[in-house]
Amino acid sequence: MNYEAVIGLEVHAQLLTDTKIFCGCRASYGDEPNTNVCPVCLGMPGALPVLSRKALEFAILAAIALECKVNSRSIFARKNYFYPDLPKGYQISQFDEPLAVDGRLEIELENGEKKTVRINRLHMEEDAGKNLHEGFNDSARFSYIDMNRCGIPLIEIVSEPDIRTPEEASVYLQEIRKILRYIGVCDGNMEEGSLRCDANMSIRPVGTQPLGVKTEVKNMNSFRSVRNAIAFEIDRQIKLLNDGGRITQETRLWNQASNKTIAMRSKEQSHDYRYFPEPDLTPVLIDSTVIETIKSRLPEMPKEKKDRFVKDYQIPRYNAQVLTESKALADYFETACKHGGNPAGISNWILSELLRELKQNKIEIEDCPIKPEYISELVVLIEKGTISGKMGKDVFARMYNTCASPSAIVEEQGMVQVKDEGQIADVINKVLEENPDQVKAWVDGREQLFGFFVGQIMKASRGKANPGMVNSLLKQKLEGYKKI
Ligand SMILES: [Zn+2]
Repeated sequence: MNYEAVIGLEVHAQLLTDTKIFCGCRASYGDEPNTNVCPVCLGMPGALPVLSRKALEFAILAAIALECKVNSRSIFARKNYFYPDLPKGYQISQFDEPLAVDGRLEIELENGEKKTVRINRLHMEEDAGKNLHEGFNDSARFSYIDMNRCGIPLIEIVSEPDIRTPEEASVYLQEIRKILRYIGVCDGNMEEGSLRCDANMSIRPVGTQPLGVKTEVKNMNSFRSVRNAIAFEIDRQIKLLNDGGRITQETRLWNQASNKTIAMRSKEQSHDYRYFPEPDLTPVLIDSTVIETIKSRLPEMPKEKKDRFVKDYQIPRYNAQVLTESKALADYFETACKHGGNPAGISNWILSELLRELKQNKIEIEDCPIKPEYISELVVLIEKGTISGKMGKDVFARMYNTCASPSAIVEEQGMVQVKDEGQIADVINKVLEENPDQVKAWVDGREQLFGFFVGQIMKASRGKANPGMVNSLLKQKLEGYKKI
C-alpha cells in the first residue's frame, strides 16, 4: 500500500526582548545560572505578572508577517503540569482565545514548486527553566535547575497539517526562521534553543481522508535533524503498519547520535492540562489602530525583496535567493550596488568569493571585514580593465586580510594591468627567444605548448599582462615562426 505523511509543525520562537514576558528580569542567554530571577518568574506566592508591551508588539509583528488575523481580544490561560523546571506548577500560555489565527506561509521547494502551508494559530507564552543533567562533577547523582529561562517570552506558531514530506517541513521551518529574523523579533539560533520545532505526524493511504494515529516528535535542533527525524518517523510508521502492528499515540524524542526516534511518554491530551483562564492577567485588547501602527513598521519581506532584486538589478534568480537569505546580506549587496559597478558582477563576487571566505572563517556578514563599497570598487576596476579578473581574486584575498580598499592595494602592489601592445610584445619576444626548442616543437605541431608560452609570459609580466592581448599577440608571433 502507498502511504502519505500528514505533518503539522509547532514552532517555538524566543522573542528578542530585553526583559522577560511578565517581569523585569533580564532575558539574556548564557548568564550565570539563577541570576536573572525574581519572585514573579520564580512563582512565589502572591507575586503578580504584568505583560511586557514589547513582547506583545513583537508577537503582533510576527502574526502580521505570517498573514495571521490578530484577534481584538485574547486571553492568557494556565497550563497545569508538574516538572522541576516549572516552579509555579503551571505555565502561562494561551489556549482557547489566542493572539492570532488563520495565517499562511508560502514555501518554495528545491524543484521550484510552490506550496502554501496554512497557519492555525500564533499565541504567546512563557518559557520554563532548564534542567541540567550533565556537566557537573556529581551529575551522575544530581540534576541541577537553571531558572534564568523561566518567563522568557515565546511565541508558538502552529501550522495546519498541510506538510507532506521531510523536505517541506525543513523548508517551512527555514522560511519561518528567515521571516522572524527579518522583522527582528527572534535571532533564530537553533543551537541555543531560541528556535525550536516539534512535529505532529501520522500516515494514511494515499487518496484517503481520515487521519491516522499521530505521534509527536521532539528534540530536533537543526534543519537537518528535522528532515532526518521526520523521514525516520514516516518509515517507522509505514513498517509498523505493514507488519500488522498499531501506532500508539505518543511523544517521541529524536536521537541525533543513533538517527532514531525513541518513545518518551504516551502523548497527553489538552484536557490533561486542565487549562483555565489566568486570573492574574486581564484580557489583551488590541484595536485596529495599534495593528496598523505595528504593520507600518513591517520591513520588506524576503519574497518581495527577492522579486525586486531580480527585476531591478537584473541578477539571476538563484543569486537573488541567496542574497535575501538574511536582511543583513541583502543590505550589504544593495549598499555595494549604490557605489557603482554592474550588480550582476557584484552579486557574483559576494556569492562566490565573499560568502566562501565568511563561511570558512565562521564570520557573519554583519562582521564582514570588507566594506560593501570595496566590492563595488573591485568590480569597477575589473570592468574598466585596470586589473584582470584573475588579479581581482588576488586583490580580493588582500582586501579580506587587510581591510584595505582595492584601489589602495592595486597601487601599493603595482598591480595595474599592462595593456600596452609594445610592452606585451617585448615580453613575448623575450620568452620565445629564451625557449627556442619549444618554439620549434610548436612549429612541428605540438599545439599544446601554446599554454606553456602563455604561462611563461604571464609569469614574466608578474601576472599584469592583459590575458586577451597576450593570447592574440602570441598567436601572431608563433604563426610568424611557421613561415620562416
Ligand atoms: Zn523575574
